[in-house]
Amino acid sequence: MIAEAIRDINKSLPTGVRLVAVSKFHPEEVLMEAYEAGQRVFGESHVQELQRKHEALPKDIEWHFIGHLQTNKVKYIAPYVSMIHAVDTPKLLQEISRQGEKCGRRIPCLLQLHVAEEETKFGFTPEEAEQFLASGLWKDMKGAELRGIMCMATNTDDEQQIAREFETARQFFIHARETFFADQPSFCECSWGMSDDYPIALKHGATLVRIGSKIFGQRQY
Ligand SMILES: *Cc1c(COP(=O)(O)O)cnc(C)c1O
Repeated sequence: MIAEAIRDINKSLPTGVRLVAVSKFHPEEVLMEAYEAGQRVFGESHVQELQRKHEALPKDIEWHFIGHLQTNKVKYIAPYVSMIHAVDTPKLLQEISRQGEKCGRRIPCLLQLHVAEEETKFGFTPEEAEQFLASGLWKDMKGAELRGIMCMATNTDDEQQIAREFETARQFFIHARETFFADQPSFCECSWGMSDDYPIALKHGATLVRIGSKIFGQRQY
């Protein structure tokens, strides 16, 4: 079942789009099933759980941290995390950079853009993100490397609204790439799309889709 879901999703992805298998709350043996089906990129959203899985599972897994990350926990994942998707404040990026430098790394990061209507979602508004990028402060944060933009759409059945939100993120990404990263081809990632909305995300420029329940079934909360 897991292998089949991964195969089906991969078939539906255009070349250049990568699947992040969101495995939060699923036990190690379930992740191993995905691993044996060839999946190597996994997304987790809790530091302790990621620590445990990173220690237990094969070392060629790329671990992406996709949830809200507290600054005081960055140090635990800095040595090995492959990408941090949801950088939502300058302070968090600063701390990622500090910890990255300590490990001799430049940790790949995405800025989380707040495009949803829900009040509760984290992230920079487009105006805040613009201001931060224009400030140039990130250029001195040598232990972190901005690779692109991440967002979550509103949790709604209104597909047009979801499409509008992804398109807002895409337009911001294009603008940022041209304005601030023209000499940095590594600024190339658009992380949007989950189990219910990734087909829409693919139409609006996604390069990383973060898919959990469609692969692993409902989570055990
Ligand atoms: C849980 C989660 C996902 C995956 O959600 P599904 O609906 O299970 O595919 C994607 N992104 C983030 C940030 C998440 O927390």
